[in-house]
Amino acid sequence: PASGSVLLAADRVTKRFGGLVANDAVSMNVKAGEIHALIGPNGAGKSTFFNMISGVDDPTEGEVRLMDRPMQRHPAREFAALGLGRTFQHVRLLGQRSVLDNVALGAHLRARRGWVASMLRLDRGEEAAIVAEARRQIERVGLAEHVDAPASSLALGQQRIVEIARALAGQPALLLLDEPAAGLRHLEKRALAQLLSQLRAEGLGILVVEHDMEFVMNLADRITVLEFGTVIAEGTPAEVQANPRVLDAYLGG
Ligand code: ADP
Ligand code: MG
Repeated sequence: PASGSVLLAADRVTKRFGGLVANDAVSMNVKAGEIHALIGPNGAGKSTFFNMISGVDDPTEGEVRLMDRPMQRHPAREFAALGLGRTFQHVRLLGQRSVLDNVALGAHLRARRGWVASMLRLDRGEEAAIVAEARRQIERVGLAEHVDAPASSLALGQQRIVEIARALAGQPALLLLDEPAAGLRHLEKRALAQLLSQLRAEGLGILVVEHDMEFVMNLADRITVLEFGTVIAEGTPAEVQANPRVLDAYLGG
């Protein structure tokens, strides 16, 4: 997609759980070549929103459009085919398997056939192409020296980057990252931010759902701030940072 084109658009998305309004008419969009951060305190409704924009759950009201088509609920294995790559709040890697195997799983998803069948090497030509693609993505994210290491032997920050490589192996236009900085040390956050900047320069659209306001301030092009399910601010990092409602929300005012 051309830089600046809208990849994902949420239009007045509302989600109710019984009497609780977890998201109240939330609108936002993510464009190709930008990093958009969705931030807010715990319980603000970030994960609820993430589930709807990733097709895990349906809104009660409102609409999510992906590449200008209505988003519908879909099984996780169809992510890649829709142009979406995602990571999870808690690392989901096969710890005993190599970095290469883990990233190859993402490429299998793109191949749109059962990865179990591919793992059994029913088609060696395709298997070789998938492994080559996985290696390419591992180099792209700067983990070439760890390609054969068991995933669990890597530091948490590197494991998060392996998950990003796995998502990239599906050739997404849009990356959805759920709290990628959570639990990372300072230098790991820096490395992650650098990688995301690189991917943005390569033209990806990136939505980062994040609790860590400091992490997104130097990284995001635009920030949407949620509190109690409602958008209380949207704008550049400088605009959002200067917004009194945001300061209140974060300082518990
Ligand atoms: P965040 O990710 O910003 O911490 P969540 O989206 O997880 O916030 O939660 C927003 C609100 O919705 C919270 O009050 C939470 O308890 C509630 N909530 C989230 N998921 C469910 C669910 N499946 N059923 C009922 N309530 C939920
Ligand atoms: Mg959450």
